[in-house]
Amino acid sequence: MNIIDGKAVSAEVKAKIREEIERDKLEVGLAVIIVGNDQASRVYVNNKKKACEVCGIKSYEYALPEDTTEQELLELVNTLNNDGKVNGILCQLPLPKHLNEERVIESISPLKDVDAFHAVNVGKIMIGNYAFLPCTPAGVMELIHSTGTEVSGKECVVIGRSNIVGKPMAMLLLHENATVTICHSRTKNLAEVCRRADILVSAVGRADFVTADMVKDGAVVIDVGMNRNAENKLCGDVKYDEVAPKCSYITPVPGGVGPMTIAMLMKNTLMAKKLQSNA
Ligand code: NAP
Repeated sequence: MNIIDGKAVSAEVKAKIREEIERDKLEVGLAVIIVGNDQASRVYVNNKKKACEVCGIKSYEYALPEDTTEQELLELVNTLNNDGKVNGILCQLPLPKHLNEERVIESISPLKDVDAFHAVNVGKIMIGNYAFLPCTPAGVMELIHSTGTEVSGKECVVIGRSNIVGKPMAMLLLHENATVTICHSRTKNLAEVCRRADILVSAVGRADFVTADMVKDGAVVIDVGMNRNAENKLCGDVKYDEVAPKCSYITPVPGGVGPMTIAMLMKNTLMAKKLQSNA
């Protein structure tokens, strides 16, 4: 069994981004909007700002109070859409309940939508002709590639069908000619379906969800889940101790998919700069 080192792969990606930015003397800027006081969101935003520093990208933080109105938020997005220093705009989710996430995301210019959540970018991912990567699934693909595993023709099972992870994950695997099955809460015989997988990606959000009886011997197992266990420690969806010995490769949590998501965000921000320079 081999552990896939997401930190190392993400460090390589970020180093390449920095190299390109320095070589071409680019000025790249990412605006990060955070509304309210969600602790997890604060940690994610801080990590994104740190990654910007590592890559040589300038980050602009907009921390808005919990009671920000939708109008105020949309006005800020509009200002940033028209700000030449800002190449990428990211609005940290979830937003407080009184704000409509879909309206806010759709207000971001598709050319600056570095999370690739805007319907235009989601559609492009579906078609297979896209500039912005869906960050978490693209990070997963990089991790799979880092193992040297050929995806074409493989049985791949994705557990989870969310718009930000499960669905785009399935699309990227499909674009690389995998045979893809998407599972969700209504899937019958889940363990049996998962046991078919040469590559199993779990994006459920429940600790200890994927057990050894769901995994084929020699499978590549990618754990997207980010959960807290009974001791309040960060963990994934996979019951790691019993699943790991069966795998050819497995991602740990933390230190697997998480760092890759942020690296892909940086890649998208550099891509945004290039797209805008050519526009
Ligand atoms: P989500 O929107 O809550 O989706 C969870 C998916 O799991 C749904 O499609 C749901 O099915 C499915 N599911 C729930 N219970 C199930 C069951 N018993 N059997 C089979 N499927 C079941 O979550 P998400 O946003 O995709 O995130 C998933 C996990 O990934 C979370 O832990 C999140 O924190 C983590 N995450 C990590 C990163 C990272 O960078 N590492 C990035 C994003 C998300 P239904 O659709 O039928 O309800």
